Amino acid sequence: MHKNVTYPSALACTGCGACSATCSVGAITLSINNEGFYSPSVDHTKCVECGACQRVCYKYTDLSTLPTLGDQACYATCSSSAETHATTTSGGFAYELSKWGVESGYAVMGVIYDYASDTACTTIVDDIAGLEQLKGSKYIQSYTEEALHNFVKRAISNPSQRFICIGTPCQIFGIRSLVEAKHLKNKILYVDLFCHGVPSYLVWDPYVKQQRERLGEIKSVNFRYKGNGWHQYSIRLVGERSTYCNYAYNDPFYRYFFDNVALNTSCYTCKLRQRRAPSDIRIGDFLGRAYEDREDGISAAVAVTPNGKNVIAELANNQRVNIVGEHTVEECLKSQSTDDYNGIDLRNSTIARLTDGDIEATKRWYVKQFSLKHRIYLHLKSLTTLLPQRWIIALRRARRAIR
Ligand SMILES: Cc1cc2nc3c(=O)[nH]c(=O)nc-3n(C[C@H](O)[C@H](O)[C@H](O)COP(=O)(O)OP(=O)(O)OC[C@H]3O[C@@H](n4cnc5c(N)ncnc54)[C@H](O)[C@@H]3O)c2cc1C
Ligand code: SF4
Ligand code: SF4
Ligand code: SF4
Repeated sequence: MHKNVTYPSALACTGCGACSATCSVGAITLSINNEGFYSPSVDHTKCVECGACQRVCYKYTDLSTLPTLGDQACYATCSSSAETHATTTSGGFAYELSKWGVESGYAVMGVIYDYASDTACTTIVDDIAGLEQLKGSKYIQSYTEEALHNFVKRAISNPSQRFICIGTPCQIFGIRSLVEAKHLKNKILYVDLFCHGVPSYLVWDPYVKQQRERLGEIKSVNFRYKGNGWHQYSIRLVGERSTYCNYAYNDPFYRYFFDNVALNTSCYTCKLRQRRAPSDIRIGDFLGRAYEDREDGISAAVAVTPNGKNVIAELANNQRVNIVGEHTVEECLKSQSTDDYNGIDLRNSTIARLTDGDIEATKRWYVKQFSLKHRIYLHLKSLTTLLPQRWIIALRRARRAIR
């Protein structure tokens, strides 16, 4: 049996790319598999069975020992710059942290949207101008391979180079394992995200292709447009001919994302998002009742380690961010995806159907598999988006108040 990452495991691959970056003979490459997710292929003619890739891979780790998020402080926060706040996903904490990092000599690892390939791509940024592209969550899996190889090279050649690494919990787990395996001495601040999971490129590719036919060349993709109110979730694509903007409940891409029918297999039982993956800070949206009236977006920043706490304090002391509230992690977690997801069989059937590229027909099919009660609920939600925005907001608040 091969002593590499093709060795069977009960856990599914996340596509984090750490295995590729650790392999010293270049036997592993990452590419999009037939389910629409990045995953590694091993060239068995090059592999020397050293086992290094398994040692950085979460699939061969006992995750039950990972601590849970517990008694850490969770800050509700937003950028003190109105411009930054308006152009970021929630409160713009990640952007302000990255800006502070660059100004303090850190290189920042984050994710851009690559318009040439219509993919999300992890990259390393060293200047303030480059941070613009990191703004905004891209709700698709990012390609990490080149960035991780580059990261290892840079870290080895310059041990005094400091890094801030921002990514999903599985990506941060992979990077941290890589750093340990390569005995890197660089100072690194690890920042992971509250994570719902990543939908397949079998959804995103045909979706964006259809959009391009209607809008012309795509100039900007905003997965979390705030113009309809932050709590409403809207997607906005600007093309050379026109602009598309829709509420999540009417948008096919978002439907697949929120209906949990086309996420990566690893996302269904992901202990890394449910527990405390090895980060210093975990960030996300401060959803739920506490900031119900903030349609401009509020970030949640959990100080996982003392180092993370110091950095948050520094950002607040320098008035880069405003701390608008201090909470327990439990308060924030109430509105997060912390349980395993049901429906892996429906997911597998949906992914199998998606290979024909018809996302509308597959959506009609999978919705029919839901219970009648759930279908009525989805239909009503979709209908509410026809109402004026202030009515939608009022309805949402009324629903939350009843809960
Ligand atoms: C796939 C995905 C699922 C998420 N699920 C949840 C969730 O369930 N609950 C929740 O509260 N928050 C979730 N988030 C995080 C949330 O969308 C915001 O990123 C977070 O609130 C930080 O907002 P901000 O205003 O500080 O970020 P911004 O200043 O807008 O910066 C966004 C940051 O996210 C990074 N990023 C963008 N796209 C990706 C990507 N595809 N993979 C890895 N990193 C990326 C960027 O590098 C940047 O650092 C998710 C993010 C992603 C990418
Ligand atoms: S989980 Fe990450 S390290 Fe493990 S096989 Fe997949 S890409 Fe490689
Ligand atoms: S076992 Fe060693 S040589 Fe083989 S793919 Fe893994 S890291 Fe590369
Ligand atoms: S849910 Fe887990 S496996 Fe899926 S992208 Fe998020 S951290 Fe990675």
